[in-house]
Amino acid sequence: MRLEDRLKAEGRRLGFHRVGIGPATELRRAREVLQAQQARGIDPAFVPKEISLRTDPQRWLPGARSLIAVALAYPRPPRPAPPDREPRGLIARYACFEDYHAAIENRLERLMRFLEDEAGRPIAWRSLVDTSPAVDRAVAEQAGVGAFGKNGCLFVEGAGSWVLLGAVVTDLPLEPDPPVELDCGACTRCLDACPTGALEPYQVNSRLCISEATQLRGPLPPERRASLGRSLWGCDICQQVCPWNRGMPEEPGPLQPLSQVGANPSLLEMLTLSRRGFLERFAQSALNWRDEKVLRRNAAYALGNLRRAEAVPALAERLAHDPSPTVRGAAAWALGQIGTPEARRALEERLAHEADEGVRAELEAALTAGRWSG
Ligand code: SF4
Ligand code: SF4
Repeated sequence: MRLEDRLKAEGRRLGFHRVGIGPATELRRAREVLQAQQARGIDPAFVPKEISLRTDPQRWLPGARSLIAVALAYPRPPRPAPPDREPRGLIARYACFEDYHAAIENRLERLMRFLEDEAGRPIAWRSLVDTSPAVDRAVAEQAGVGAFGKNGCLFVEGAGSWVLLGAVVTDLPLEPDPPVELDCGACTRCLDACPTGALEPYQVNSRLCISEATQLRGPLPPERRASLGRSLWGCDICQQVCPWNRGMPEEPGPLQPLSQVGANPSLLEMLTLSRRGFLERFAQSALNWRDEKVLRRNAAYALGNLRRAEAVPALAERLAHDPSPTVRGAAAWALGQIGTPEARRALEERLAHEADEGVRAELEAALTAGRWSG
């Protein structure tokens, strides 16, 4: 058996759904996407000045010869909440499983040790797990793991886009795999379903994407708050509507589902999430790099979007006592959206005591631009 085939067999044994090999040459497609985004001024935080650092494997490992990319498939999230009257938020499917970073890193390390034994010589290699979404996907595409759909996701045969990606760059010369072909044809379902118009064919505008917004710190611009709907973390809409994803994996994969996360947490519980509560619930999940304040803020925006009057006492309590000005500001906005007389009273009372200028501005905006019912 060829070394490349032994590598792939070992990767499958370790739980990877797909292992692919590509040349360690420039990621031309990723460079073009990043250059186009930079020219249009899209989210400079995601577009570094020196694009070659993100797209040239020789900058990651001088003398590199090959890219090895892997895809870990994940199935349906655990335990959807049964229907009840509780206002509930949404957590993206990948975050309902154990943190994939460590799961992929550990397996990649074992895979590279295997490869070193098989090659019979020391190998120079470097992990590329979660370098950035654009680059992870471009490496996987170059290694023949999958192909892009119009929603900007990478589709892998037998798993759809429900995959998490990782890769290494190495000095070991390996025979590359052919590219995967995928043709969306005339389908535009993902583009039509995206609630914010963030999708252009094969590109996501991170300035409009809900998934990006849920992960940002600080107050979101008012126009982005309504677009969140009831999202607490991430957004799966453009994957859920895709016909390529129909019937994709239901059976358990190598990632452990986290029953304590749940795909639909109570928004009122998330609104009061403490540091300890965050760690108990999310420390093992891939959203552990953020903190409880972001989830409290998103819960407040979601309650404002749902306009549930029973949330007014909880929002008024956050407005008065939350230590984070961002969360107090989000609670003020949500009360303005709910627009009941009790919500107005809570805003007026807080205005008499609030010292933070940013929150005072939120209070004034909510009192003037809120959806007051009379
Ligand atoms: Fe649109 Fe959601 Fe897809 Fe982002 S993740 S492009 S907001 S559907
Ligand atoms: Fe392609 Fe249609 Fe899937 Fe979008 S929804 S990625 S256009 S097949």
